[in-house]
Amino acid sequence: MLMDSAPPQEPAPPGAAGSAVYFDGASSRRHLVTLAFKDRLELDEAAEPTIAWSYDDIRRADGPPGVLRLRCLTALALARLEIRDAAAASQLISRCARLDEHAPGRHGVGAIIGWSLAAAASIVAVIVFGVPLAADRLTPLVPQALERRLGDAADVQVKAIFGDKICDGAAGRQAFGKLVDRLREAAGLDNSVLASMLATPVPNAFALPGGRIYLFSGLLAKAESPDEIAGVLAHELGHLRHRDATRNLIYNGGTSFLIGLLFGDITGSGALIFASRTLVSSSYSREAEQDADSFAIEIMHRLGRSPKGLGELLFRVTGKEGDRNLSILANHPLTEDRLARMRAEDRPPSGPPLLTDGEWLALKTACG
Ligand SMILES: [Zn+2]
Repeated sequence: MLMDSAPPQEPAPPGAAGSAVYFDGASSRRHLVTLAFKDRLELDEAAEPTIAWSYDDIRRADGPPGVLRLRCLTALALARLEIRDAAAASQLISRCARLDEHAPGRHGVGAIIGWSLAAAASIVAVIVFGVPLAADRLTPLVPQALERRLGDAADVQVKAIFGDKICDGAAGRQAFGKLVDRLREAAGLDNSVLASMLATPVPNAFALPGGRIYLFSGLLAKAESPDEIAGVLAHELGHLRHRDATRNLIYNGGTSFLIGLLFGDITGSGALIFASRTLVSSSYSREAEQDADSFAIEIMHRLGRSPKGLGELLFRVTGKEGDRNLSILANHPLTEDRLARMRAEDRPPSGPPLLTDGEWLALKTACG
């Protein structure tokens, strides 16, 4: 259930809304694409994965008269979209509130100066204390707006790697939303959490900056009870709460990323592409995993449910053949002591089931 975009100002016509030419920024090939005005602008080309641009990230690029030429902050720097159809162009312009936002405004300059000072201070910190401590000090300084932007960019990367098929079974989505809401409320987190289910056989779940959480159907398929999935989601909420993905990014990017932030355009696509790749592929430290487990154990106990299922589910994934590189264990390494701890925290249920049997069945089958 993606809830991240404001609804379009006017209802989008069903289906195709115009055609355009897309240059991917990596080759000189012209791609003939069909535009669809969904919660993001979607570029569809026969037999190619759909490309989606957030309206807020779309900017006008210089173009000849009669052609609306656009770039996107989260796409490759040279990627361009050219629209000649005036109706489609005006539809798109009405949705892109920041189309002509080239130079940073006063607020933007202030943020960049503040951020640059933080980055400069942190480079000194890296030299004096080493990277891990600097990452700890810098993470709380990262503005929420930048975290959201990193999350948006990484979302594009997630969908490029794992496919962009969002599970859309209505009853399943409703059950998923209920589960996320119960956990979120028990955790005292606000409703800026964007949780979604993706249909991919990879057994994984993870959190990205900006409040994004993903559950893959491959993990859902291996789960045997709502408490197992609840435990995983609570663990991911723990990573969100502790801003672990952002910390990982600074840690893995080290000084080069900080220097890039300092001297480059902080919202430039190069930094975002680096960031999104790192976010999807990196694994958490032992301490971050333990802290996210503590968070999950507390939330599950607060709801009167056992956190044991989280360990059981992860253990079940370990036992299976398959590509561990992409599985939940790649991002969240499972150790004997983690498993032992979740088992030790087992309690008989004292709260009502988190989902009814019917809701659980709907969730299990939400991805088809
Ligand atoms: Zn984890």
